[in-house]
Amino acid sequence: MNTATATTRPVTRVLRGMPASDGAGVRLTRLIGTPLAPEIDPFLMLDEFRSDTPGDYLAGFPDHPHRGFETVTYMLAGRMRHRDNHGHSGLLVPGSVQWMTAGRGIVHSEMPEQEDGLMWGFQLWVNLPARDKMTAPRYQEFAPEAIPEVTPVPGVTVKLIAGELAGATGPVQGVATAPLYFDITLAPGAAWTAAVPASHQAFAYVFAGSADIGAEGHRHTVARSHLAVLGQGGQVELHAGEEAARLLLIAGRPLGEPVARYGPFVMNTREEIEQAFADYRDGRF
Ligand code: FE
Repeated sequence: MNTATATTRPVTRVLRGMPASDGAGVRLTRLIGTPLAPEIDPFLMLDEFRSDTPGDYLAGFPDHPHRGFETVTYMLAGRMRHRDNHGHSGLLVPGSVQWMTAGRGIVHSEMPEQEDGLMWGFQLWVNLPARDKMTAPRYQEFAPEAIPEVTPVPGVTVKLIAGELAGATGPVQGVATAPLYFDITLAPGAAWTAAVPASHQAFAYVFAGSADIGAEGHRHTVARSHLAVLGQGGQVELHAGEEAARLLLIAGRPLGEPVARYGPFVMNTREEIEQAFADYRDGRF
């Protein structure tokens, strides 16, 4: 692509997360899915869990259902065991990712497999289009070594979870919203312009250092623990400050469909939510 003429996405909002508690009392920070940022279509929720206090995470997320969307868990530190009612289980270790398409429904638990130490990671909820909400559940799970690491320019490394970059492709494939999910590290003073499809909605979440995001003259400094909502354009300009920065850059094709949402069920209509409750109650997940 011609980066000289592509439009750089502006930062339209910078948000801090809100403290929240979920599962059996896990303390986390909710970045998307709050009154300030109810959703960034197709993304319904983004949580960061980060604590070295066992009381913040030990209770975990015992059995609970999901229907109508996808959950993406990306671990930075710690170990999490998941187990569902169809006999699927797995262990998430640091650097691994699980992209779970809940589709018509699963009931699962997500429990820490450690009693102390740091537990740190993200869970993103990605909506499914109406035609896929009742699809069969599907797991895509990858160990850290299955996630390509690309160096597009000196001083910048990108862990490619979903999407393409410099001839490499992230292992997560076949997702309806054609997502891009990059974990980007910028060395002090490094800069990089990432191509992001203009059709997509995008955001960046800075979780180490700080990054200046946007075109020259329109740059916003986004500090650690802040999420930048990005406007329209075909590329994203990132600059690290005097220290290294690390951030998630996530984009997806918006669905533009009505969202009927109640807890772990995300459908298009209220009737479908009522059906989800009935199916769950009657053991049809
Ligand atoms: Fe879950």
